[in-house]
Amino acid sequence: MRVHVVGNVCVDTTFRLDRFPAAGETLNASGHYDGLGGKGANQAVAAARTGADVRFRAAIGNDAAGAWIREQLSRDLDVRHLTTLPLPSDRSTIMVDARGENLIVTGANCAAVFDPMADGGFAPSIERGDIVVMQGNLHPDVTTACLRAARAAGAMTVLNPSPLNAGHAPPLSVVSLAVANASEAAQLTGAGDPEAAVRELVRQGAGAAIMTLGADGCLVADSKGRVEQIAARKVAVVDTSGAGDVFCGCLAGCLAAGIDLTAAARIAVRAAGISVGRTGTLISCPDGHEMKMLME
Ligand code: ADP
Repeated sequence: MRVHVVGNVCVDTTFRLDRFPAAGETLNASGHYDGLGGKGANQAVAAARTGADVRFRAAIGNDAAGAWIREQLSRDLDVRHLTTLPLPSDRSTIMVDARGENLIVTGANCAAVFDPMADGGFAPSIERGDIVVMQGNLHPDVTTACLRAARAAGAMTVLNPSPLNAGHAPPLSVVSLAVANASEAAQLTGAGDPEAAVRELVRQGAGAAIMTLGADGCLVADSKGRVEQIAARKVAVVDTSGAGDVFCGCLAGCLAAGIDLTAAARIAVRAAGISVGRTGTLISCPDGHEMKMLME
């Protein structure tokens, strides 16, 4: 079983601050650094580190940042399925405060126009039983078309509808497994209660659903709407950015390895827990050796 991750990749510039600036205020950061980012890339790398055979489709620009992204990704993945567009590569600015909370702004030149279906290669590359993982960074119509094509090819589709473009998520009827954090699940369902929200994602058409709950782990709802909570271990939080992506990528990798949904979610909670105890988005993701230990 192959994991196809379809989404975005960008250069993340992370600034560490005591607190976030108010509107119109300038603050000095205590430090900053560049790293590989984008929810698609984060999830693809996390999945690859579980040992899964990952095919990552995303668009990069024809600039130095694009070349840098390709080189960085090649450390974990086969980069032959990246598309180069005549645009500046995508970038994000991430601010992390002393509590480990983050604020993120993304400049999505490439992701805004990227259509993986355009060259005709996407659908034929999917085999029955493959897992196709998407997020909310591509145009919602593009995401919907890819998920539909993946379902038609017999794949399991996993949607992490983040970021939620003003609530414009693809219909959950094309989604085998929805993975949403608390705020996304609340926006998609209108339900305030976490259990009701995760059950509602299934009622809206997802084959199963997971709602991540930060320090409280996650809730897993199966196709019959049965809900189970998976607790997280206590972690000294350093930086929560990318935790949801480590969760999704690890989850997809575990599912591709034949691990059942609840056990996969348990491993994903532990992998994401490790990442919040370290600084950075992708650099905080457990490496291949750590993933292997978690999966044993
Ligand atoms: P997102 O990062 O997408 O907003 P969450 O905050 O729900 O999503 O975090 C995703 C996962 O990361 C959680 O399900 C949990 O496994 C892990 N996680 C996040 N914050 C913490 C924390 N403070 N302590 C332990 N684990 C955490």
